[in-house]
Amino acid sequence: MERLFWTDPYRTHLESRVASVHGQDVTLEATIFFAESGGQESDKGTIGGIPVTRAQILGPEIVYTLAESPPFRVGDSVTTVLDWPRRQALMRLHFAAEIVLELYYKAFPGLEKIGAHIAETKARIDFLFEGTIAPTFPEILARFDALVDADPPIASTFSDEAALRRCWSIAGFAQVPCGGTHLRRAGEVGRIHLKRKNIGGGKERVEITLAS
Ligand SMILES: [Zn+2]
Repeated sequence: MERLFWTDPYRTHLESRVASVHGQDVTLEATIFFAESGGQESDKGTIGGIPVTRAQILGPEIVYTLAESPPFRVGDSVTTVLDWPRRQALMRLHFAAEIVLELYYKAFPGLEKIGAHIAETKARIDFLFEGTIAPTFPEILARFDALVDADPPIASTFSDEAALRRCWSIAGFAQVPCGGTHLRRAGEVGRIHLKRKNIGGGKERVEITLAS
């Protein structure tokens, strides 16, 4: 299965052949439809005009569960259409969270991340952190805005193609292993808001929303 959401993350429509059909579950020879991994939620959209209700990574395959049994068969050509506003919001929030995380690692060497999740309207990163993390926000936001304003290109490549491992990098800033979908340039993230949530002793949550 060719994973075009990595090599062409701005593609919203794709015609590809059906590789398997089992009841409502289908696989495709090539796909633009991301399945949840690395904390980034699955896309929404349709395959052959039928809504996808679930996308699951199963070994080397991605299995799409459709809202009804499809009329198409193995070898047929079908069109996948993404909910692009959702994907775009997920990509922007995902990358915002990755920049924020890298800035925290630079500012607090040894800081431990204990969780992260990227949804359509909000991302969160959880840290082991003593005290309140809110006072760090002005400095982190200033560095964030400076990076976004510099608008460096984001390179996304395989670190190990056989194992389907990906990484992104910004020259002079960071190289990070990640199987998510990535923007072409940091400037596309825009401005963000940070909000603190205490989630128990010694654990701090940073919530990220897009400001524009
Ligand atoms: Zn990523």
